[in-house]
Amino acid sequence: MHFQRLKLSGFKSFVEPAELRIEPGLTGVVGPNGCGKSNLLEALRWVMGEASARAMRGSGMDDVIFAGSGRRPPRAFAEVALTAKTDPDDQWGGELEVVRRIERGAGSAYRVNGRDVRAKDVGLIFADAATGAHSPALVSQGRIAAVIAAKPAERRMMLEEAAGIAGLHVRRRDAEQK
Ligand code: ATP
Ligand code: MG
Repeated sequence: MHFQRLKLSGFKSFVEPAELRIEPGLTGVVGPNGCGKSNLLEALRWVMGEASARAMRGSGMDDVIFAGSGRRPPRAFAEVALTAKTDPDDQWGGELEVVRRIERGAGSAYRVNGRDVRAKDVGLIFADAATGAHSPALVSQGRIAAVIAAKPAERRMMLEEAAGIAGLHVRRRDAEQK
């Protein structure tokens, strides 16, 4: 699965519709403090099903909706769409579009290639592609400080999770009890 495009509307500081094209190779996002670089990464997490408002640096999920500024009124909804190229022979026919929309006070709804789906279905699509809202490939700013400040045992847990061996402890404990 290759991400191609992220479209945002009313999401955090992206009040007007905006589009980020993700070309093959490396994409860099540069800009002054507070211009919305982290908001872009959060939009990517969010459309892949992030359920924690705290992970979005908010207290409730409605906090991802543009809250208004000096001259602009708040928005009633936020929408993020992610387009990806997939295997031409798969169930998506080679092109996948996932849309998540939230309306103030009414929660989130998801669509995949135009059809209404559950959050769980979206989670599975990205898990099958070895990515998702909790992929270790997405490293947020606070996370770097957390790794540096972590106690050795905590840091070891992070490394084991990234290495994909965290599940082995559980299995070993099970085996030892048998
Ligand atoms: P830095 O370089 O400091 O990391 P950044 O480019 O990552 O900055 P972000 O953290 O993505 O910046 O953006 C922060 C901006 O987004 C702030 O100005 C904040 O007011 C704005 N913002 C966040 N949520 C909302 C919201 N719901 N409505 C309006 N603006 C919002
Ligand atoms: Mg940032």
